[in-house]
Amino acid sequence: QDANLYALLATGFPADRSGCCIETHDGLYYSWDDLEQATGKLANLLAGLKLPAGSRVAVQVEKSPEALFLYLATLRAGLVYLPLNTAYRAAEMDYFIDNARPAVVVCTAANLSWVAPLAEQHGTRKVYTLETDRTGTLLEQAAALPGRYRTVARKPGDLAAILYTSGTTGRSKGAMLTHGNLASNAQVLHKYWGWSRQKRGSDVLLHTLPIFHVHGLFVASHCALLSGSKMIWLPKFEAGEVVRRLPQATVFMGVPTYYVRLLADPDFDRAACRRMRLFISGSAPLLTETFQNFRARSGHTILERYGMSETVMLTSNPYFGKAAEVRHAGTVGLPLPGVRLRVVDDAGQPCGADGIGHIQVQGPNVFAGYWQMPEKTREEFTDDGYFRTGDIGKIDGQGYVSIIGRSKDLIISGGYNVYPKEIESFLDEMPGVDESAVIGVPHPDFGEAVVAVVVPRPGAAPEAQELIRQLKDKIANFKVPKQIHFAPELPRNTMGKVQKNVLRKQYGAAS
Ligand code: ATP
Ligand code: MG
Repeated sequence: QDANLYALLATGFPADRSGCCIETHDGLYYSWDDLEQATGKLANLLAGLKLPAGSRVAVQVEKSPEALFLYLATLRAGLVYLPLNTAYRAAEMDYFIDNARPAVVVCTAANLSWVAPLAEQHGTRKVYTLETDRTGTLLEQAAALPGRYRTVARKPGDLAAILYTSGTTGRSKGAMLTHGNLASNAQVLHKYWGWSRQKRGSDVLLHTLPIFHVHGLFVASHCALLSGSKMIWLPKFEAGEVVRRLPQATVFMGVPTYYVRLLADPDFDRAACRRMRLFISGSAPLLTETFQNFRARSGHTILERYGMSETVMLTSNPYFGKAAEVRHAGTVGLPLPGVRLRVVDDAGQPCGADGIGHIQVQGPNVFAGYWQMPEKTREEFTDDGYFRTGDIGKIDGQGYVSIIGRSKDLIISGGYNVYPKEIESFLDEMPGVDESAVIGVPHPDFGEAVVAVVVPRPGAAPEAQELIRQLKDKIANFKVPKQIHFAPELPRNTMGKVQKNVLRKQYGAAS
């Protein structure tokens, strides 16, 4: 039995292939037939290279429908897709290409002059270019090839993609995901988020996420493809354009910063959301304040979910049921069907309800290991086969999971555990404070000292001593920051994650 992920996704395509599959920001329409033909041509091109099984196709291009087709073509040809953040420059690309040793590299014409030598140096067989205006050597060379292609059979355990993690806590690691991992998660989300209950083709996904991470490439695209839904395809998130497009859409997926920016746009209102059935947030914590303001403004309750490169999606707030009751602010919801999730203490013993500990998971969605890091892979799995996510969290009495932070961000001050999120939530509530990040910096007596970085609200000038005084009334002294720094904004990566390693570097020496 064939387990190729593309074959599964194609079962969702509408019988009539002439309908619209992708509509772009600049007014292009791609039909389902176009998708099949384009991926067929590209798969023929890749197959013609006669690469050994497991060969990697590394791709660093700007977002376009053709870039998505290249991903699907790689699946069809049975090769391994490896997307790379478009922001990476020479030193980073050298690391990834050296680490992944791709047989094929696809880059932009603008980067070709420095990417090609790197690729050749590391044994890459073919380097192509791909632009956002349907030009480049990749499409040129595929153009004359047949659009018909027989998707190769894969086993569930065969690799489909290597996704490098966001590098929030250190150097990015290549998570090896199999056809089985991605297919099982796609099917679960298709059901859990109600796609399968809609009349085929009636959903419209407004797609604004980058496609070099799990969120935009897998979660968003797979749901739309598997349900035969049209995607409105924007090259990037831009609040004004999203507000203009929302009235045509039924589903939107974003990182928390997108929601903050939508709320900052005066044109965003209920009318813009009139066809919407679902807003999903993930990749970074959604503030309760954003969740509430969004509901007040749009009438919609954001559904927050949690996942990572190594596991695709793990938990989600419910879709079905009364949204305002079943979707709990500040939580990432319940483990998805098939996912076993537990919270354990340092000794590996399960924590009770609301006990804070390490999140560990098991399931058909959990990856096959880190690319070329067998040692690291072994370390991150328990003896009984659970993956250590590196996240700290808790499960409440109703089974809802909350993320408290990352084990690497945990501060140990004078022998006491300090969870940055607890202090951040108090700070965020204080007058004049927009948001905050709490970090540990080296300290001669305490090991680590608690330090906060605060972003003031526009026009406000909160005082450090006053914030510290207020905190002292609320939480134990060892948790209260020794210093508070002010900054106009927090450093975030493309997925909206606060980069605490950057803050630790910047403020680490200050104490
Ligand atoms: P690295 O592993 O390289 O340090 P990363 O963990 O940020 O980077 P990703 O795999 O892209 O790389 O992100 C997964 C992480 O994102 C999760 O482990 C979790 O910490 C965080 N995350 C995802 N969804 C949520 C959410 N809804 N709330 C809070 N955190 C989330
Ligand atoms: Mg991680």
